[in-house]
Amino acid sequence: MPSKHVLVATSNPGKIRDLAGAASHFGIEVAQIPNFASLPLVVEDGQTFEANARKKAEEYSRYVPGEIVIADDSGLEVDALGGAPGVHSARYAADEPHLADANTDDEANNAKLIREIKRVPSEKRGGRFVCWIAAACDGKILAVFEGSAEGVIQETPIGSNGFGYDPLFFFPQINKTFAELTAAEKAHYSHRGEAFRKFLDWYSRG
Ligand code: IMP
Repeated sequence: MPSKHVLVATSNPGKIRDLAGAASHFGIEVAQIPNFASLPLVVEDGQTFEANARKKAEEYSRYVPGEIVIADDSGLEVDALGGAPGVHSARYAADEPHLADANTDDEANNAKLIREIKRVPSEKRGGRFVCWIAAACDGKILAVFEGSAEGVIQETPIGSNGFGYDPLFFFPQINKTFAELTAAEKAHYSHRGEAFRKFLDWYSRG
């Protein structure tokens, strides 16, 4: 086992895989918190991504004494929509009456975003993906890291890679939507990749 490792507070295996790929270049091993699924769920009720990331890292780190734990929170902010979907990104369509009992999955969220963005003039459709990562040990925050990616929301989905709002997020820097990026490109350009590299840089120096 490499000398350094970090435990991630997430139930998403895809996220662990992505983070592990980036961390391997730093000789840092990434694993899920053991028995994560059986731990009491930390409610993400913060007003900001940072608050939610801090809360999750703080609370989950208490279950693994002495270990460095990271937690992240991320989402999409659209300027013309007052920063929405923001911290509600995962459940943006949850308040749709006809969807109340249905899932609030990526498709429903994207359908709502398309509806909302159509009301916005095309030159005002700027937004960004934002990610905050908090690192904690024994219930205490050690550091927080932020990453963001600036783009334009489009009303036609393009691309089939990625997840969430990726097909609607046009990234002018390389003239593609996030759903057209390979996993390596996404790690390079994305908000999560940027925040995680900041963490890795900090952790590998410490
Ligand atoms: P999480 O907190 O990182 O799991 O992300 C919350 C929600 O934000 C997701 O369910 C997505 O709707 C959205 N989101 C976060 N990051 C991305 C991304 O890289 N691409 C597309 N959607 C994202």
